[in-house]
Amino acid sequence: MDFHCHLDLYPDAKRVYVEALRRTEFIWAVTTSPRAFAATSKVFPAAQGLYISPGLHPEVADKKASELELLLSQLESCAGVGEIGLDGSTQYKYQFELQILVFRSVVQRCVELGGRVLNIHSRAAAREILDILEANPGFGSAVMHWFTDSPTQLRRAVELGCWFSVGPAMISSANGQKLSALMPRERVVSESDGPFAKVHGTPVMPWEADTVAAKLAQTWDMPAEDASKVLRSNGLSLARLLGMGTLRSPNAKA
Ligand SMILES: [Zn+2]
Repeated sequence: MDFHCHLDLYPDAKRVYVEALRRTEFIWAVTTSPRAFAATSKVFPAAQGLYISPGLHPEVADKKASELELLLSQLESCAGVGEIGLDGSTQYKYQFELQILVFRSVVQRCVELGGRVLNIHSRAAAREILDILEANPGFGSAVMHWFTDSPTQLRRAVELGCWFSVGPAMISSANGQKLSALMPRERVVSESDGPFAKVHGTPVMPWEADTVAAKLAQTWDMPAEDASKVLRSNGLSLARLLGMGTLRSPNAKA
């Protein structure tokens, strides 16, 4: 199962779509802008194991800010939203205030709508993300994707009931392993973050998200098979929050 995938951004995305639906049980296809969401929803036919959500990626906040109203209206009919969040790294800090405005507006809208499932990018900005979430109870559920911040901020996120999506690229770093050891097991799901996330220079494919089970098994000190079962059971719970109640088993496994 893949809880954070940029399915529309793979070269040859249609082929990846077909293969991903065949090889994995569930894909959360996040988008980077409200218009990209509209386009992606047209290109990829709805399928039982696919959830597509509208987003506004913090890295393009300045370019896409004019689409914020569109995003807020799309939220009415979507159980999930993403990719949204903040990016405080040097490259994107110049538009941090704008990112905050966008993110806070989305979170507030989620409160008004009775709660949504948020797929969150928090690079170098977990403190500010958690400040906004804590100030807006009733926003719903948050999935912290590829969390790289400090153990202190991680603990805050755990207190807030956040989920965490962990992928093969994240788990291949020492810091990623250290942080995933601190996450509550019942709140961890797998992700690819492809095609951005790469392992050995190659984009991670949606059906490779599940391979994190082997490394998580070491961290959790359990057989890989058990770690897979934990991830799948968590994944089914999170998919239910998105309204994806019935999933079919994939025809083939990676
Ligand atoms: Zn992403």
